[in-house]
Amino acid sequence: MKFGGTSLGDGQRINNAARIVKEYVENNEVIVVCSAMAGVTDTLFALVDRASRGRVRDVEITLNNLSEKHFKAIDDAIKNEEIKKDVKSIVKELIEDLRRAVLSILYLREATPRSRDYVVSFGERLSTRIMWGALTELNVNCKYLDGGDAGIITDSNFGEANPLMEITRLEVRRRIGSLLDRGITPLVTGYIAVNEEGVITTLGRGGSDYTATILGYCLDADEVWLWSDVDGLMTADPRIVKNARVLSTVSFNEAIEMAIFGAKGLHPRALEPAMKSNINVRIKNTFNPPHPGTLITSKPEKSDMIVKAVLLVKDVAMISVRGASMVGRPGTVAKILETLAKENINVMMISQSVSESSVSIVIKREALPRALNRLETALLGTSLVEDIESEDDVNVVAVIGERMKGTPGVASRVFGAVAKKGINIRMIAQGSSELNISFVVKEEDGYEAVRAIHEEYGL
Ligand code: ADP
Ligand code: ASP
Ligand code: MG
Repeated sequence: MKFGGTSLGDGQRINNAARIVKEYVENNEVIVVCSAMAGVTDTLFALVDRASRGRVRDVEITLNNLSEKHFKAIDDAIKNEEIKKDVKSIVKELIEDLRRAVLSILYLREATPRSRDYVVSFGERLSTRIMWGALTELNVNCKYLDGGDAGIITDSNFGEANPLMEITRLEVRRRIGSLLDRGITPLVTGYIAVNEEGVITTLGRGGSDYTATILGYCLDADEVWLWSDVDGLMTADPRIVKNARVLSTVSFNEAIEMAIFGAKGLHPRALEPAMKSNINVRIKNTFNPPHPGTLITSKPEKSDMIVKAVLLVKDVAMISVRGASMVGRPGTVAKILETLAKENINVMMISQSVSESSVSIVIKREALPRALNRLETALLGTSLVEDIESEDDVNVVAVIGERMKGTPGVASRVFGAVAKKGINIRMIAQGSSELNISFVVKEEDGYEAVRAIHEEYGL
């Protein structure tokens, strides 16, 4: 069971999450994975940024706020004075460690990917200790472990580390297995792991989901439950479409596609270990536990739905590379992709017009300046490319559903619905899996386009 940040948003909620765990440990072996309290990971990233720019006062204030937030959560989550005292002293020590790390960044005015991972790891380490207190108060025999202590070992790609699955499997079985054998409930920090030298790494934003499925895979779990603040995966982001509906089941492929396009902030790789070992994943709501949630499974229930979900990806930018002489000259696309890959910039969408005189790609917005800089250096002035243009005020709309495959007319219906609203489509791509159609619109049209398709398909 993994509890997301909102589900651990304050002391009250941590207490609520602990009660949910308590209910299940009586008849099951449960492993608990905790995210950082809501907002804390963002704050820690900001802290690193401020420290590396030498902003002493900001750093002090932020550290104090973080400390206060966690101490208040302890007061609200735990009543027993003895346990409270224990947790407070553990948390106090962690905050001191955090302070030291941040101060060293402050003095050096330099943050490395490695030191950044170390600092952001404190979010999960803090929340897990508070959860431990809340569960101990409920008489659950439990032990907290950091990702590395639980046996999760990754490469050294700080910020987005990849688990070394087979060694991890051995280690996790040895370490977590022995706790379970002794009737102890393990509480594991989400998001963080260690590399082979024992240095702390992180699995990428939203990585606690990934921690949960990695552990599920390693321990042959019956199911992995991701407790969040929504009843399940929905046909659209409920903040965009008021009457978005909860999907009762989706296939792994659909869920992976949804994750890539940002549904529920689900970590895009989180479903891999579960899919590989065929472990069902369930998304449930801590604020509404009786709701069955969404089941992600290899055998979803039969449904007539052709389109399952419509998602919006914000914070993206589109780059168009034009040049008449690109026609019939192989290698232009390869050159573009290679240039971006060298900068570690991920291409989310790519499309080339039939005439081949232009190639459009979509990337994360924050990477745009770097991408333009590199592409201009690499391509302009060659005979291949005449012009590079960019738009940073766009959104991607992704339409997802396994049954779109082989159903004719989906594209025309989707684009028809958008056209009816007078919205201009800037670029289109369809994955060869036919599991999704995605297209680019101006940012101001994003919500409207999602609503139009949601309505067209009666989702
Ligand atoms: P957690 O903290 O539990 O990991 P996240 O914030 O990562 O939760 O994800 C949950 C949020 O994702 C929801 O509150 C909801 O607003 C948003 N969301 C976006 N798209 C969807 C969708 N299609 N279905 C469900 N939730 C969605
Ligand atoms: N706390 C981490 C994040 O905000 C991991 C997670 O919540 O899944 O990205
Ligand atoms: Mg999340």
